[in-house]
Amino acid sequence: MKQPDTTLAKADTVALWHAVQWMESVLREWRRDGFKDDADRAKHQGQLETLRLAKRALRKVNAIRKAQAATISKLVAVGPLRSPTCWCESCDIAANGGLCSRMSLCPECGNKRCPRATYHDNACTGSNEPGQKGSSWEQCRSTEKPQVERKTAGAAGAQPRNHRVSRAQEQQGTAGGAGA
Ligand SMILES: [Zn+2]
Ligand SMILES: [Zn+2]
Repeated sequence: MKQPDTTLAKADTVALWHAVQWMESVLREWRRDGFKDDADRAKHQGQLETLRLAKRALRKVNAIRKAQAATISKLVAVGPLRSPTCWCESCDIAANGGLCSRMSLCPECGNKRCPRATYHDNACTGSNEPGQKGSSWEQCRSTEKPQVERKTAGAAGAQPRNHRVSRAQEQQGTAGGAGA
């Protein structure tokens, strides 16, 4: 069973308004032409009452349409996070009004810092290094804060796969060796 379209458009209320206007002009001409008898007059009276109710209904429909439009524009503004059709971060952000709905990984190498994870047309570098051109991690350069990196790596032994940190550790080791 096909569901009817329940969204009220302006064209809908305009069409109803024309129908109501048409009824009003028919009743006006009916009265101008004069009534045959009391029954005819009573019938006209009944139609006038129907017209009054139709006008009231039209005002309600208009109010419903405006409320619906406000709700729809609010939903569009807030927007539930949608699953974009593309796996890349740029398409995710474009589909979600500037918000990320998930972590994007390069489908080739599986790295989040690969430039291809940021934009589907970028080439895969096979690397998860921060600071790669075209990656949303481009501005994130671990070498800019060697002190922090060294401290973190030294304290917890974390991120051993990051070769910049490894090099920093090597240098630290060399310096330590020279000092001793
Ligand atoms: Zn994409
Ligand atoms: Zn990649």
